Amino acid sequence: MFKIMRRETRDQEQLTTDLRRALNAGDLHLVYQPILDAKNEQTVAVEALCRWRHPTRGDIPPSVFIPIAEETGMIAALGEFVLRQACSDARNWPGVIVSVNVSPQQFEAARFPDIVRGVLTETGLEPTRLELELTENLLISDLDLAGAKMRALQETGVRLALDDFGAGHSSLNYLLSLPFDKLKIDRLFVSKIETGAASAAIIHAIVSIGRALGMHVTAEGIETAEQQQFLRIAGVHSFQGFRFSRPIEAVAISERLAAEDQARNRARLPLAS
Ligand code: C2E
Ligand code: MG
Ligand code: MG
Repeated sequence: MFKIMRRETRDQEQLTTDLRRALNAGDLHLVYQPILDAKNEQTVAVEALCRWRHPTRGDIPPSVFIPIAEETGMIAALGEFVLRQACSDARNWPGVIVSVNVSPQQFEAARFPDIVRGVLTETGLEPTRLELELTENLLISDLDLAGAKMRALQETGVRLALDDFGAGHSSLNYLLSLPFDKLKIDRLFVSKIETGAASAAIIHAIVSIGRALGMHVTAEGIETAEQQQFLRIAGVHSFQGFRFSRPIEAVAISERLAAEDQARNRARLPLAS
């Protein structure tokens, strides 16, 4: 038992060292998952997701390396890298919003709004094209301070989304006190639409709260036509999930947007006689 624990600790230490090296060497990279308008299924946004291909262990999932980054303080540098890269890539995708996940620790740093403004200036991305995703796990001790920070970001034009809505604890309290622009319904509820009446009821309730508060509602983790149909009728504004696209490389996003553009132009052309 003791031996196993020791091995796990060593393993963790090694991963931490490797992650630090990868971060410094620029070995982390981003993929993007499209978010589609529920009405016409066109790509309106993309979510940036960080990837780490370890030289010997292969792909390490973010569910493993993000917590390591958070525990070791590396998340500040990692988060800034993600933000800068996402804003820079998004310059190639006019009209499309880029959504970036923000860890609680990043958001809690007093300089966070300045970092965001700095990256926007540096990359030249219009602030209205950036959306930041905060999770319910954000353990906000001072709601007034968090609210002020959020409003400072919104004043520059940046939008704020509450990610994984429903899966954490304080969600309703957050909606009462914090000015989110968007809700993302947690994948857990979407995955149970077909099997449980409770999930369906919860989704209806979330959409109704979101709409009543003037928020945009996205559903994530959509995998089947049945889930899509249910969510469309429930009134969700936008869709994200493997049914439409897995997270893909930046060049593949450019190709997808170009193909959508072409299809729109073709639809507009008069039929040749
Ligand atoms: P998230 O922000 O909720 O991101 C959505 C996750 O769900 C992604 O997993 C995505 O690949 C996955 N997903 C999307 N559609 C489907 C689907 O239809 N079915 C299933 N089974 N999964 C789907 P990923 O990339 O492994 O990321 C996991 C989590 O790690 C993210 O959850 C986010 O919390 C965190 N994360 C990823 N990149 C970053 C980052 O750059 N910064 C921070 N702070 N966190 C990140
Ligand atoms: Mg997210
Ligand atoms: Mg999520």
